[in-house]
Amino acid sequence: METIPKLNEDQLKALTAKFQSKWSTETYHEIFLNHDSWPVSKLATGGLLQTIDDLFAGHIDNAFAIVRPPGHHANSCLSKGFCVVNNVAIGAKYVLEKGLAKKILIVDWDVHHGNGTQELFYNDDRVLYISTHRHEEDFSHYPGLPISGYTYCGEGKGLGYNVNIPFQANLPLILDPNFVPLRRPEIGDNEMLYVFHNIILPIAHEYQPDLVLVSSGFDASDGDLVGYNWESNAKCGEAVARALLSTETPPVPDLKETDIYSGLLPTVKEIIKTQSKYWKSLGN
Ligand SMILES: [Zn+2]
Repeated sequence: METIPKLNEDQLKALTAKFQSKWSTETYHEIFLNHDSWPVSKLATGGLLQTIDDLFAGHIDNAFAIVRPPGHHANSCLSKGFCVVNNVAIGAKYVLEKGLAKKILIVDWDVHHGNGTQELFYNDDRVLYISTHRHEEDFSHYPGLPISGYTYCGEGKGLGYNVNIPFQANLPLILDPNFVPLRRPEIGDNEMLYVFHNIILPIAHEYQPDLVLVSSGFDASDGDLVGYNWESNAKCGEAVARALLSTETPPVPDLKETDIYSGLLPTVKEIIKTQSKYWKSLGN
């Protein structure tokens, strides 16, 4: 931990460089605190728990908890990646300990992998964790960990209850000699819809959760370059609220393999093959 008010410009630059070096091996984990961070974090988590209570009391059918700071990088002992405590994980544990539900699905569509959430439920069959996230083979995208890969499926009782969908388009597995690996491939709505329809929704229907929690980070949206863009945040927030309030869902195009980025397809096929060991709905 470092305090910054007494540091000069050079010291601040050096500290910033330290923060931005390899996250997985450094003591620092992209976490910035001030005097209000802890009380605000408790308010955020408390807001989510109150929302869960209201849901199970039947006062509401669904809810959108607009809480900051976020949570999915924090685990039980470390705050990381702007996340002080893991709100969704605490929410899931709260539901289980109160006996409100037996099976919880956590869907995490933030552009980063929720490594903290994965770690907290890796051995637990009561919580199915499914994450879509950008992932690079050289681990250059935060959180930059091997555990964000699709071969990490849980262990012990939790085996089969962890589904990683890395948008990992520069795999060396691609055999096409004309393929030029792209650092930032065109992953967009089609790719997201395709994995929802071909991986996430079939597994979710098969699992039949009592409760669905969504780690609804909007940093995968168009226009968001570094984690926050107020305009795209506002649009995404409105879209989620409209979907929750509406009885009708917008039409979804019937996408084929040829509609998605070709560099991603081998990864998608490998994910389906890997997860089909645990989920019948993905077989054939
Ligand atoms: Zn994120």
